[in-house]
Amino acid sequence: MKYASIAGQKEAVNLLEEMSLNNRIPHAILISGPPGSGQLALSLALASSLQCESLQGGSACGSCQACNKSFNFIHPDIHFAFPLIKQEKVAPLSSNYMVLFREQVTANPYIDKKSWIAALDGENKQANITAEASREIIQKLSLSHYEGKAKIMIIWFPELLGKEGNILLKLIEEPEPDTYLILATEQEDAILPTILSRCQLVRTRLMASDEIASVLINQHNVAVKEAHEIAWLADGNMSEAIRILQNKTEDHTLSVIDWLRCAYKAHPVEMIHWSDAFSKISREQQKNFLRYGIYFLEQALMSQYRGEDQVLLSAAEKETLPKIVPLLPFLVIEKITERLNDDLAALEQNANSKILAMASTLFIHKTLKNRA
Ligand SMILES: [Zn+2]
Repeated sequence: MKYASIAGQKEAVNLLEEMSLNNRIPHAILISGPPGSGQLALSLALASSLQCESLQGGSACGSCQACNKSFNFIHPDIHFAFPLIKQEKVAPLSSNYMVLFREQVTANPYIDKKSWIAALDGENKQANITAEASREIIQKLSLSHYEGKAKIMIIWFPELLGKEGNILLKLIEEPEPDTYLILATEQEDAILPTILSRCQLVRTRLMASDEIASVLINQHNVAVKEAHEIAWLADGNMSEAIRILQNKTEDHTLSVIDWLRCAYKAHPVEMIHWSDAFSKISREQQKNFLRYGIYFLEQALMSQYRGEDQVLLSAAEKETLPKIVPLLPFLVIEKITERLNDDLAALEQNANSKILAMASTLFIHKTLKNRA
């Protein structure tokens, strides 16, 4: 991967390129930042630059033989270690999961821990870098390299090394020449202090909403309005943005406006229908719907202060705004938003979605009726 294909993170990229140009890449480096801010992508770009045969301005050239291999995750001197979930049939070694890793990271170079664990099919399960995997790292790095310029180990989420991390300490303490350890984390405070103190730190920052939107527009062919909507929902996490995109309810099968209308009228049959429909979409889609509800309310609030042209909603939604806005003074929006946030948390905890939808509809009804 080239630095140029990573959105945002100018400061981190400049720092890394400068280190390359001055030939001063430290042997242990920790790239740390909030989830979905490109820590792994930067690690991959750094590894490629360390192996590249014709470095350009501190970045991998993208066309030499070494780049060809590193860009495709098949460079024999770039190794990976990442958290796994113990399974009966497959040994918990990173080398057994390279196909999945390559597939996931290629589709989403900003992938965060949550998406990776979901890809392992382990929602709510404990993932870690096992002792076996740590030993595999040591074994691989102790082999003399046979083709590249350096031996590189990328450790993704070193905070999940736990006690086994101690086995790796020796590598960090007494680095061999031409051996580089690149650690990528989204939870710096959970890393063993002994590891932390030996790494040079490079920080990534929360992605700006516009940066996320432009990745969606330019690399995922998302329409401008939708891209900004998703970027807002993703709250600085590029991986979350891609997750939302992949799970998007088909063209709003459920509409927030219909829900508010249904809650306002509180007709029992309609409410049952609505809760039923909500319970039938997937859990990710339910969460996205609630997130969209929060987004919609914020836009409705904004329209009262900044005028409609500042509002990022569909034409149909904008048309309905004048009718709906009088029902939504600030305090009502605040209460409903708080409720939707609680609902989101409850869905994360596997709450019954039908009961949740019904209770929430009644809550919105009461809040709208008591608005004065
Ligand atoms: Zn190259």
